[in-house]
Amino acid sequence: MTVQIQKYKMLIGGEWKDSSNSAVSSILDPSNNEVVAEVPRATKQDAKTAIESARTALDSAGWVDIDPSKRGRLLTKLTGLVRENSEQLARLETLSEGKTLRESKGDVAWAARAFEYWAGLADKVEGETIPVPPKRLNYTLREPLGVTVHIVPWNYPIALAARSLAPAIAAGNTVVMKPSEITPLTSIILGDLALKAGIPKGVVNIVTGSGAEVGGALVSDPQVDGIVFTGSAETGKQVMESAAKNVTRVLLELGGKNPHIVFPDADLARAGKSVRDGIFTNAGQMCWAGSRAFIHENVYDSFVKDLVAKTRAIKVGPGTDETSEMGPLASKSRQDVVLGFVKDGLEEGASLLCGGKRPTDPRLQKGNFVEPTIFENVNGQMKIGCDEIFGPVLSVTKFKTLDEVVTMANETDYGLYGGVWTSNLKVAHELAARLQVGGLAVNEYLVTFPQTPFGGYKDSGIGHENGIRSLEFYTRTKNVSINLS
Ligand code: NAD
Repeated sequence: MTVQIQKYKMLIGGEWKDSSNSAVSSILDPSNNEVVAEVPRATKQDAKTAIESARTALDSAGWVDIDPSKRGRLLTKLTGLVRENSEQLARLETLSEGKTLRESKGDVAWAARAFEYWAGLADKVEGETIPVPPKRLNYTLREPLGVTVHIVPWNYPIALAARSLAPAIAAGNTVVMKPSEITPLTSIILGDLALKAGIPKGVVNIVTGSGAEVGGALVSDPQVDGIVFTGSAETGKQVMESAAKNVTRVLLELGGKNPHIVFPDADLARAGKSVRDGIFTNAGQMCWAGSRAFIHENVYDSFVKDLVAKTRAIKVGPGTDETSEMGPLASKSRQDVVLGFVKDGLEEGASLLCGGKRPTDPRLQKGNFVEPTIFENVNGQMKIGCDEIFGPVLSVTKFKTLDEVVTMANETDYGLYGGVWTSNLKVAHELAARLQVGGLAVNEYLVTFPQTPFGGYKDSGIGHENGIRSLEFYTRTKNVSINLS
């Protein structure tokens, strides 16, 4: 069967554009590496044009002077359009990222919820009056930050696009978004839906292109007021360096090497399922993947035996097949990287309990599949014990005491997220205080809402997405002091 290759354009200043040099990039289906779409491969000039469009829109009548509650209504409209188009969006997400349709539908629903949440907050961005010595009035104004650049990774394309687009618009900014070169399709559709919702031309610009060239041009442009970067710690550090040259504000949402800890008094059946899904959802391509499981010695043997059995039972296959439980990795290069980590683990002396290779099913040979993999005998000095693998590879480690597990869990440069399973509240609260992570889930895992802050400690990032406090990033505070004497 010949696949119809869809050709997309990018959105600059409210118009659909090709790249200024007409170059295109192919988008591949990771389950078979066939070309499914073509998108413009933007140039540095296109990046500049997009920033200029955003800047023009920022100061244009109809946006600079808009009633904030109208911004909220535009976001409400966008919420509805995302929901109406959720089937198409989920299909496109699976087609280019590879995750199962069930997961993509969840991501689209999450994106719609993010727009809905921020729709309600658009007219609640309040300043304050501050008590000062008499005969003065002192107050703060919360102004839009300005032109914000959003660099999005490929693992949760629509959810992460929505996560930053929604607050940026709610607060009155204008946006240039660069989706990942692997998964730009749902961001392009979001741009289309934003126009259809009535968001003025130039407020949302979507530029498709490479990280180094177009991403690099966007984050080093002095016309940009804020950069929201979601991606690897390595690239995040480069972005921060570029931003420093222009004193541009950055919000960095980076990687993780997250501990998932199980005490013997937990509901072990639920914990087992959670430890499995906490790493093998989206084929482990998650910043918040529970990639290091720590299991108490009293239950270690039976828990791990059951976990390995559950993991072997995961049905690996194309995301579009409704029976698949785990899709492929998003690209061939990611498959190579993950298999490279497996090799490193074996060479460093870790013990492979299951997986560790491409599946043997002949129907999966063209895709970027890797079997769900579990190692034991891993420590924090090994490459697989400290680097973010970003694939379906879990390490399991036995622990004896709470102090010991805290030390092991914190023995990483990352500090994004963690999970604890226990029925002892005292233990849960002690770990909440002692684990160096920006988010902790107790007796569940992989849980985040548009209203709850998400951000990392240590190399996992700076600042927060989600929740009212993320408005600190998307607004500037001006203090006004009026002498009344
Ligand atoms: P990546 O760093 O390779 O790329 C992320 C984005 O940055 C892409 O759009 C890419 O094109 C762009 N980019 C690359 N080089 C650039 C440069 N020099 N300047 C500007 N932009 C550039 O990351 P990835 O492989 O796409 O995503 C996986 C990483 O993202 C993992 O480390 C994961 O943990 C992290 N992540 C973090 C969160 C979070 O909320 N903390 C969420 C999802 C993913």
